[in-house]
Amino acid sequence: MSGKRTPKVALVPGDGIGPEVIESALAVLQAAGGEIEAVPFEVGLGRWKRTGTALSEEDLIAIKDLDCVLFGAITTPPDPAYKSVLLRLRKELDLYANIRPFKGQRLNLVIVRENTEGLYSGIETIEDEEARTVRLITRRGSRRIAEKACDLAKERQKLTVVHKSNVLKSDRLFLKVCREVALKRGVPHDDMYVDAAAYNLIVRPEAFDVLVTTNLFGDILSDEAAGILGSLGLCASANLGDDRALFEPIHGSAPDIAGKGIANPIGAIRSTAMMMQWLGRPEVSQRMEDAVSWALQTGMTTTDLGGSYATREVTEALALRLTDMSH
Ligand code: ATP
Repeated sequence: MSGKRTPKVALVPGDGIGPEVIESALAVLQAAGGEIEAVPFEVGLGRWKRTGTALSEEDLIAIKDLDCVLFGAITTPPDPAYKSVLLRLRKELDLYANIRPFKGQRLNLVIVRENTEGLYSGIETIEDEEARTVRLITRRGSRRIAEKACDLAKERQKLTVVHKSNVLKSDRLFLKVCREVALKRGVPHDDMYVDAAAYNLIVRPEAFDVLVTTNLFGDILSDEAAGILGSLGLCASANLGDDRALFEPIHGSAPDIAGKGIANPIGAIRSTAMMMQWLGRPEVSQRMEDAVSWALQTGMTTTDLGGSYATREVTEALALRLTDMSH
């Protein structure tokens, strides 16, 4: 979207470190001169424990009325009665493309993960002796994710389709459709088996630019890429549909460090920068990205990256830097 009215953003801080990193991201956004009208929603495990509902139908209706969602993290307990809030939001808003950029000393690539089908289609049965999960891949699902990936690859260098089509028939369709789309759009492309991609991410990361892959493979390769960069706490993502979007750091609610004030806020700050870009405020987005690069270069980092600073200290340093830069 574009235009200069103040965008209305559904704010879902969530559980664990979610509220801590979102608070930081909002402070940095403000210092970068980004204006949003934040509409807060109490969604997640905390609310489920209190009321029995993690995300209500009314919440969904209200969220659909706003421009986009800024999401922290939500704890999903291993309770069959609890439905994953993030999976529901992705499904209800039809956010089929998960875009995950990874940029650092060793990596400069984007993973485009199909978000609605594959092994996360929810077509499952479990009995005492046998359990099944159907890996659903459709032409429509493959085509639209390939189109999103090609849009990105056109602005960059090339597309790599990551799959396991030598074993999985479902991936033969995925690969075929991705190739068709890339050919039609004139995007340079190649492809790689997922096991080779996992290996090459570590030994030959320069082989990659934009990767497009199915749901579970994208999930796993993203965490691997985050590990290569040094921390899950650094990485951002956008969940995109045709005209809706949800932005979130790729990390979870990290219950082991919640409440300690040491969470790395950079993934949430970068997710907010991606949101401002999508909302048609590229200058705010760029200021936030520049400030993050400065913090990383100067060692103004939290302990997950070997630094000695608390979330609040990193946030204040970034906000001060942005305020100084604007004078
Ligand atoms: P989920 O199932 O929601 O993905 P998880 O526990 O598997 O949750 P995370 O919550 O992302 O995954 O945490 C994985 C590890 O990474 C934990 O040790 C956590 O403390 C660490 N971690 C995650 N995010 C951050 C962050 N922002 N800053 C510092 N450490 C983090």
